[in-house]
Amino acid sequence: MENSCETLCRSLVVHNGLQSESVDISQSVLYTSLMGLLLVADKKADIPLGSGQVGLRNVGNTCFLNSVVQCLSHTRGLRDYCLTKAYLQDKHSKQEPVLMNAFTQVLSRLWDTEGKDTVVNPSRFYSTFKEAVPYFSGYSQQDAQEFLRFLLDRLHTEINRRPAKCPPGTDTAEPKHKCFRLSEQAAVMWKKYLQRDDSRIVDLFSGQLRSSLHCSVCSHYSNTFDVFCDLSLPIPKRSGDKVSLKECLDLFSQVEKLDAENAPMCERCCRRTASTKRLTIQRFPKVIVIHLNRFTTSRYSISKSTVCVTFPINNLDLGPYGPVDCGPVLYNLYAVCYHSGTVNMGHYTACCQDEDGWWYYNDSSVQQVPVDQLQSSQAYVLFYQLNNSSLRK
Ligand SMILES: [Zn+2]
Repeated sequence: MENSCETLCRSLVVHNGLQSESVDISQSVLYTSLMGLLLVADKKADIPLGSGQVGLRNVGNTCFLNSVVQCLSHTRGLRDYCLTKAYLQDKHSKQEPVLMNAFTQVLSRLWDTEGKDTVVNPSRFYSTFKEAVPYFSGYSQQDAQEFLRFLLDRLHTEINRRPAKCPPGTDTAEPKHKCFRLSEQAAVMWKKYLQRDDSRIVDLFSGQLRSSLHCSVCSHYSNTFDVFCDLSLPIPKRSGDKVSLKECLDLFSQVEKLDAENAPMCERCCRRTASTKRLTIQRFPKVIVIHLNRFTTSRYSISKSTVCVTFPINNLDLGPYGPVDCGPVLYNLYAVCYHSGTVNMGHYTACCQDEDGWWYYNDSSVQQVPVDQLQSSQAYVLFYQLNNSSLRK
């Protein structure tokens, strides 16, 4: 019991983005949060599940949708939330959650205990999605990452625990944070975000990015915090056929020099000054979606990088990109979305993990795949789950 409490405390600390030496959460807050976590753990229903090894029919260039749905279908916290229909009690809006219902219907057939289907047709879900997001109408090939963003955003809106519009008076002016420590600033911004946007999608996928700007003239630091639902990583351009995920993360988080013309205004100098900027993860999400940004848009065309990005299956440590001294923050891979082919003639597939190992989902076909075949130059979106037990030192 003592051990599990310690784990919970540590995970709270990481989720609150606090640095280990500056932990001063009051006893009562800690107690309430712990009780909340225990209740959530108790509420986790034992749902009867089939194998989930069921394909999705391609209903006309819908491999982008099929691959993303398989990855989300293997995101347990989301799958179980859908299958138990817990969102019906959770959501604030009185409106019918049409897209969430259609998505849940697909999941319940993929995880059907009687295994009635070997292939599920996602047409109804797709047409509901296109009605909700008209941008995706038409039958041209779409980008899986873009689809994932729109889908999660739309599902979030339907099942948001907060009202669509804040009641008047709650939307206070931007507070001045200058007196706060960094972790407090971040916590204030996060709390403010949750007042409007709070759902199972946020619980699972949302984290907080910190952008810190350092003025070279007066040495003033200023920070901005933004919520993210995925990390879109640049792929380093260099000779050689392989780069590592760590190199992509390093590039994403590297210190960037901005000359005076390109820098934002320094708060203290009140003018644009030569500055440096760095992005770090302030708050780690339970599930981190990593987008390997293979597509570069130039003036006339889009090109695709086919560099092989190697990535760890277990124990991806994002600690070095988090708050100073946050210690190791380990993630395990559970799904990958692949893109093969060219910009115009591409195909999406997915590999997802269950108790029996890894499975390759290629539209209607499902095959077991050895773990050593997951690495490929086609890997496009990686789904990692936070390993809570790793937070115990
Ligand atoms: Zn300055």
